[in-house]
Amino acid sequence: VFDKAIAEFRRVLDDKHVCVDTASLEPYGWCTIPIERRISAVLRPDSVEQIVEIVQIANVHQVSLYPISTGRNWGYGTARPVRNDNVIVDLGRMNRIIEVRRDLAYAVVEPGVTQGQLYAYLQEQKIALSLNPTGAGPNCSILGNALERGFGIGPNGDHFQAQCGMEVVLANGEVLRTGFGHYAGAKATYLYKWGLGPYLDGIFTQSNFGIVTKIGVWLMPTPEAFEACYITCNSEHQLGPLIEGVRKLIASNTFQGPMNLLHRNRALIMLDRYPWDAMANRTPLNETLVADLASQKKIGIWNGVGAICGSASQVRAARQTIRETLRGKTDRITFLSERKLQILRQFPRTSGVLLNMNIAELLKTLEGSYGMLKGVPSQMALPLAYWRNRASPSLQSEINPAKDRCGLMWFAPVIPMTAEDVTAFRKIIEPIFREYRFEVCITLTAINARCFDATVPLLYDRSDPEEIRRAQTCYDTLVRACRLDGYIPYRLGIQSMQEEITNQDVFWRVVQKLKSALDPNGILAPGRYAP
Ligand code: ADP
Repeated sequence: VFDKAIAEFRRVLDDKHVCVDTASLEPYGWCTIPIERRISAVLRPDSVEQIVEIVQIANVHQVSLYPISTGRNWGYGTARPVRNDNVIVDLGRMNRIIEVRRDLAYAVVEPGVTQGQLYAYLQEQKIALSLNPTGAGPNCSILGNALERGFGIGPNGDHFQAQCGMEVVLANGEVLRTGFGHYAGAKATYLYKWGLGPYLDGIFTQSNFGIVTKIGVWLMPTPEAFEACYITCNSEHQLGPLIEGVRKLIASNTFQGPMNLLHRNRALIMLDRYPWDAMANRTPLNETLVADLASQKKIGIWNGVGAICGSASQVRAARQTIRETLRGKTDRITFLSERKLQILRQFPRTSGVLLNMNIAELLKTLEGSYGMLKGVPSQMALPLAYWRNRASPSLQSEINPAKDRCGLMWFAPVIPMTAEDVTAFRKIIEPIFREYRFEVCITLTAINARCFDATVPLLYDRSDPEEIRRAQTCYDTLVRACRLDGYIPYRLGIQSMQEEITNQDVFWRVVQKLKSALDPNGILAPGRYAP
């Protein structure tokens, strides 16, 4: 049966875009999560029409299709399907930027359009709009992250919030346009999220109900003034008051979009590697050494970073509000503008002496984080995946933690934005990390004025089978312990989806009904957040 399906796929696509040989399939199996998946083939369509035909063939021959956009999705599964024997539908060739409206500040993109590509396009065309990238690097798609409801920091940082209008190939081969998109000549398809009648976009995110072939994305008009704000706290006691302050600053829109609070360990793993020698191969890192490494790099115990922008006077006012709101709650607040960055670049020696800092080192991190806030996609967060990897990133233009066999699983529960909840959450996870001998590296992203998306990477050494097993048990223990106390992940890796879906829960039963209605043969991404 499978050979017949492949023969039919070859009628639709050129031979070179129907891959079954081991060498072509190999990159799709690279993954930072320690589970293996058999992949039966890869198809690389170039149009909606081809996808429609692929879906029809899959129904006839009962082939499971697993759509990906760029297939990076580091630490959540990369391109690996949830179940065995899927045919990956790689949409990377569909990388057209269909439209950018300067005045109304949006873009319409296909699945293969990457963060780097849209950024370059806006620059080349001198369009004064910026996107909000994730930390996953320039080669990741915009669409895939919006479908996973991922986020960046700064304006429009909640990517599903910033998504408007969708085109979806359904499992029966019909093409659905959401919002106003299904009305001929509709004027506000990419401007008004809700359309008319039931709001359907949500069911195509974190699901397996369709293959999304196009989305609208809201962009930010370049503001007159823009500054990054860096906050340093050197004592754990400051975290509670800092959280209360941050909540006010987000609620009052002083920070534009999400801002991050990084624990010392999290900042450290982005800049350093596990000191295997100094630790004589023991794990986890001991407190004295961590504190030493962090102080060499001038990292606080908690480190905040966020964007303020608007007119020059709005930015001035925001600076003042931040200083007043956080007075007495932090050790240092620094604002960085383009002009300040230029001075640092031009006079590294003098500013270094004045500030008593290694400016070259500092610039590397500052340029990365400042740029990200401003919409420049960067690889700066990716090195964290190598923390416990004993080999260095292989020399290539793109850092690829999956290819380099890094051990990374993201754990990302949502925590109410109160000091009590953050403390309760840490009391659950910290002993678990300690018991299994891993470092706790928390970032709290204030995704709105009410809650944090916590992202906690579980970093392990892929070359050590014992450590791999320990990491898996640690991960499962974390998810279960947090769920018991009501801290549920906003997103899952492919290793945890099976456990989540249960018949005992009305919610998952409704999901199951939708799945059978929309995809009766179950051909689309079986097991992905749904049966
Ligand atoms: P990125 O490379 O930008 O991180 P991926 O392409 O890996 O994103 O997408 C993340 C996940 O979202 C995929 O594993 C897949 O399950 C789902 N997905 C991505 N693109 C699509 C699409 N066009 N239609 C349906 N699901 C998709």
